[in-house]
Amino acid sequence: MAHIQCLSSHVADLIAAGEVVERPASVVKELLENAIDAGASAIVVELEHGGLTYLRVTDNGCGIAPDELPTAFLRHATSKLRCAEDLSAIGTLGFRGEALAAIAAVSRVDIFTRQTGADSGAVLHLEGGVAGEVTETGCPEGTTICVRDLFYNTPARMKFMKKDSAEGAAVGGIVQHLALSHPHISFKLLRDGAEVLHTPGDGKLLSAIYAAMGRDFAMGLLPINGSGGEVTARGFITKPLHGHGTRGRQVFFVNGRFVKSQLLTAALEEAYRNRLLKGKFPGCVVHIDLPPDAVDVNVHPAKTVVKFVSDKAVFDALYYTVRDALDAENKPAAPAPRQESFYQSMTVQQYKEAAAAKDEGKKPLGSYTTRPIAPVSVVEKSALQGEVRDVMPQHAAAPITPAKPIVPFTPAAEEVPAAPAPKAEEPMQQAVSLPAQPAEEVQQTIEEKAAPWRMVGEVLRTYIICEDDSGNLWLIDKHAAHERLRFDALKADPAPLMSQMLLTPLTVSLAAEEYGAVLEHLDTLRRFGFECEDFGGGTVLVRQVPADIRTGDAASTLEELAQKLLLGRIDPEGVRDELLHTMACKSAIKAGMITDKTELAALVEKVQSGEIAYCPHGRPVAVKLTKYEIEKMFKRA
Ligand code: ADP
Ligand code: MG
Repeated sequence: MAHIQCLSSHVADLIAAGEVVERPASVVKELLENAIDAGASAIVVELEHGGLTYLRVTDNGCGIAPDELPTAFLRHATSKLRCAEDLSAIGTLGFRGEALAAIAAVSRVDIFTRQTGADSGAVLHLEGGVAGEVTETGCPEGTTICVRDLFYNTPARMKFMKKDSAEGAAVGGIVQHLALSHPHISFKLLRDGAEVLHTPGDGKLLSAIYAAMGRDFAMGLLPINGSGGEVTARGFITKPLHGHGTRGRQVFFVNGRFVKSQLLTAALEEAYRNRLLKGKFPGCVVHIDLPPDAVDVNVHPAKTVVKFVSDKAVFDALYYTVRDALDAENKPAAPAPRQESFYQSMTVQQYKEAAAAKDEGKKPLGSYTTRPIAPVSVVEKSALQGEVRDVMPQHAAAPITPAKPIVPFTPAAEEVPAAPAPKAEEPMQQAVSLPAQPAEEVQQTIEEKAAPWRMVGEVLRTYIICEDDSGNLWLIDKHAAHERLRFDALKADPAPLMSQMLLTPLTVSLAAEEYGAVLEHLDTLRRFGFECEDFGGGTVLVRQVPADIRTGDAASTLEELAQKLLLGRIDPEGVRDELLHTMACKSAIKAGMITDKTELAALVEKVQSGEIAYCPHGRPVAVKLTKYEIEKMFKRA
């Protein structure tokens, strides 16, 4: 075996560099954090080729003394941490004292710096970590660090780099997050000479959001500010009507640090429960603040994970703050009345008139069907409840819930006093597809569907009602059924999807990560019918969209595909199916849409033949009510 030796400092630097400097975005993050720590009020970031060939950060902070300049580039050189005890009270952002050393080890660096009030500044050039001489120079107060040819001496790392556009988008994400957590600092980002972001630094979070996330997003927001115990939650959340197709616009900070947290996502979305359209997600820019000892920040500085001492305290603080804000917003416009309370609040005379109108087949006042057609929404669900209650004893209304796949269905009976609304699809579950259903269950359906079915009609513009020869009643979810059909067809055909050219190209503005994913996968998207190009600043230009998707759905479809492409980094195998799911879902007939009888009949036939039983996400396509079960509800059996 070879002898044990100490690594040379150069090799040690390269190893450390690998940890700190992963890609241009991590360089930018370190340099920006240093500039923020230096008290800058304005910071400019410039990059070329996604930051791989050229990256420059200029700040107007305190600057570095010329004689300390070489020291700043030594490993473990920091002005922010002097003893082990300091570790527990890290106020500044960067603290490991290795960023500059790590960056310099894998690139060519020029640094210009002049301390506030100093007559002149200093400049230093480093190449692969080797420093030249510090020389005096004239330069503005503050610090400019220019990083060229990143990874020029570590070709292995270079291979991992994505396309310039994707690296540039990742840098955009970092700048965006820091701009949102430091609204009192003006951030400017220039990519290949073009300005893609510029925040005013006026101290207002909303101004920073407007500049960093776009006008459309900023216009659909509600402020929140609340606390529970030692935890405060403040910032902005989307109004329920402004839901987004993905979670890409949920931005959380904990004590000023950008984090990704399932707990915070869950608290936010739970507060929106039943307020957003199906498939829509709230966006937000929320700052959670809590005492430093209530949160573990001593994780790797490049990571965005966070651990709370009390998950519940944090969840509650955010959940109730958001819920209260949403409730308050709802107050001026009365919430949609539920059918029974509508009747309860009527005078006898009004009731009679309404009942008479109903008898004549007219819609009574306050009928839900006059609302705009929407995908199965809360409104329709409560209408279903209301309708059922009108004709059924209360306890019998519950079983309509298609909680289980096609299995003989058991009324929940007496112990359920009121009908729970059909279970809304859990937003959290949408990202993960459910496991395929066991084959026996599908088999069971096929056997039971030997006799021809009679289509009775469609209710709630969603469910097809059928009757089979053995006295069973079937409810078919037309969207789920069609989605399955589309999915199978798309999956069987490896050819690229047909696309349609748009008369005027569509601009779609995306969250930073999704933007990166789209630019990285332009070819894949082309196979799915989307012809996109980079428009800069988080926006893509879409020239062609899949032929069987409504143009109005194109933007949300693209957003969803981008989200799935991001997930595909974790599971590249499953990504094609996931993308097909999206395409199938978006091109399928929707709940709430008017559908031709012949189309419905075609779906019934497919369900009956056993060709489809579950939608691609594993939800049932049809539920069965046996004659016996119906009789039991009416106390006949
Ligand atoms: P750390 O930030 O963990 O201290 P770095 O390697 O990032 O370690 O920076 C080393 C030191 O260089 C900092 O502690 C700071 O004193 C100085 N420094 C770095 N960047 C700047 C800047 N933009 N303005 C002023 N001082 C800076
Ligand atoms: Mg630092």
